[in-house]
Amino acid sequence: MMDRDLMVQSIADVPQWDVCIIGGGATGLGTALQSAAGGLKTILLEQNDFAKGTSSRSTKLIHGGVRYLQQGNIKLVKEALIERGLLLQNAPHLVHNLRFVIPSYHWWERPFYWIGLKLYDRLAGKLGLGDSSMLSKAQTLEYLPTLSSKGLRGGVLYHDGQFDDARLAISIAQTAATHGATLLNHFPVTSLIKTEGRLTGVTATDALSGLPVQISSKVVINATGVFTDAILRMNRPKHRSIIRPSQGVHLVVDQKFLPRESAILVPRTDDGRVLFAVPWHNRVILGTTDTSVETVSLEPKPMDQEIDLILRNLGKYLLHVPQRSDVKSVFAGLRPLVKGTAKKTAALSRGHVIIKSKSGLFTVTGGKWTTYRKMAEDVVKRISKKGRLNRELADTRSLALHGHDLPVLPFHIEGMTDAELTLRIRQAVESEMCMTVEDFLSRRTRQLLLDARIAIEKAPRVAELMAEMLGKDQSWIDLQIRSFQEVAKHHIPDFKLNS
Ligand SMILES: Cc1cc2nc3c(=O)[nH]c(=O)nc-3n(C[C@H](O)[C@H](O)[C@H](O)COP(=O)(O)OP(=O)(O)OC[C@H]3O[C@@H](n4cnc5c(N)ncnc54)[C@H](O)[C@@H]3O)c2cc1C
Repeated sequence: MMDRDLMVQSIADVPQWDVCIIGGGATGLGTALQSAAGGLKTILLEQNDFAKGTSSRSTKLIHGGVRYLQQGNIKLVKEALIERGLLLQNAPHLVHNLRFVIPSYHWWERPFYWIGLKLYDRLAGKLGLGDSSMLSKAQTLEYLPTLSSKGLRGGVLYHDGQFDDARLAISIAQTAATHGATLLNHFPVTSLIKTEGRLTGVTATDALSGLPVQISSKVVINATGVFTDAILRMNRPKHRSIIRPSQGVHLVVDQKFLPRESAILVPRTDDGRVLFAVPWHNRVILGTTDTSVETVSLEPKPMDQEIDLILRNLGKYLLHVPQRSDVKSVFAGLRPLVKGTAKKTAALSRGHVIIKSKSGLFTVTGGKWTTYRKMAEDVVKRISKKGRLNRELADTRSLALHGHDLPVLPFHIEGMTDAELTLRIRQAVESEMCMTVEDFLSRRTRQLLLDARIAIEKAPRVAELMAEMLGKDQSWIDLQIRSFQEVAKHHIPDFKLNS
């Protein structure tokens, strides 16, 4: 189903595609599924791995966004809450209901947040995940036994969704493939092809074989997240940028810092930030930051001050204060925010936009993971009208995603026997288009994010097993280990070789 060689082959077999999508993150993959489910001949090209960009580096929440409610953006919150409910139904293997507690320290906080969260529950309607409620101090500490009780008055409990971003991306890719889409990772688009000023296709290169190809398509969609401007510049060199990237960093620490299955939301730190501490696969994710950055990259680097800021601020709420040496992994992602008038990136809208360029290029960007399906629906609706493809829009609201009826695959590889590791790698190579050691350790499993040191330790064995399955030689193994170490070292604060 996800056989890369067969997918490469189909490029030669199809003289003209209906839809060619550039970018294999949440937005591009969702668009490929929406398009293929409606019967359109669809191809998606991703320059690195599926979800290599922002889509594997989120806080892993499927949520309406309590913060956007605070900002008064009711329409965005309602749209996201509906999508949250649909995702829980369509991907129960990767999305689940999680309890969040907002600790309160002033008399007004409990009623204030409780009223806001009651509205949140109301906006979700029938797709709600459970009622919000006020908690006494004792109840709050029962849910969060490691919360510092100094000055604590109580809390407010509410529900939201938690998911695994990179695994959901693969599940969407597999679903799109079963609907006939061709999806290729490690396949960068290098230029756009135009005939008399109209966009008629793209030039791309198979990064694994070095082979360049030309792809002819009736419609081309730019779904490249923070790289949106680069594609818009391929279309028109003088294009003015529309993306204002904002970096968010997360730290992963041991579950001893938050041992129960409830998350903490700090709605406003002393310096006005929203922070989360969320249990995730026997670890805890702490984050995040919102730092405006000038340059975009596939491997954004966490800044020292971002790491310290998270530790310092969350440390104020926890009984045991996490230190830099407690960090098992740190990861940074770039939000593809669409420029607006706000000075601070935190105040920019999380809504999505669709733009049609004169050449016929469609761009879809902004938004959130939670709303990927709605973004896809909107852009495919738009191309069906303006791109004159004349197809009925598929109803993806109740489309179950691949794996919903299968056992959940492991996220860690630590503690696996060699036979278990071999089996997991085989599944990843044969059905999940896993092509590199990093694809496996970072996105097919989440070992790099769960514990980067263990991931580095396991990389040589993973490389050997993958080489056997993919028919690669020792030089491939050596190169894979080196390039994985290069990526992984940025996931360990104060990295030193053999640390
Ligand atoms: C710190 C942080 C936390 C977040 N937390 C949440 C959360 O908890 N919940 C939530 O709903 N949302 C969250 N988000 C938002 C969400 O992650 C993003 O909105 C979403 O992942 C963006 O997906 P995308 O597909 O548009 O971009 P990306 O995932 O970046 O995908 C774009 C892809 O395009 C590819 N590409 C670029 N150029 C080319 C080319 N020339 N050829 C081929 N491919 C190309 C890139 O390699 C990349 O994979 C968070 C974002 C950040 C940064």
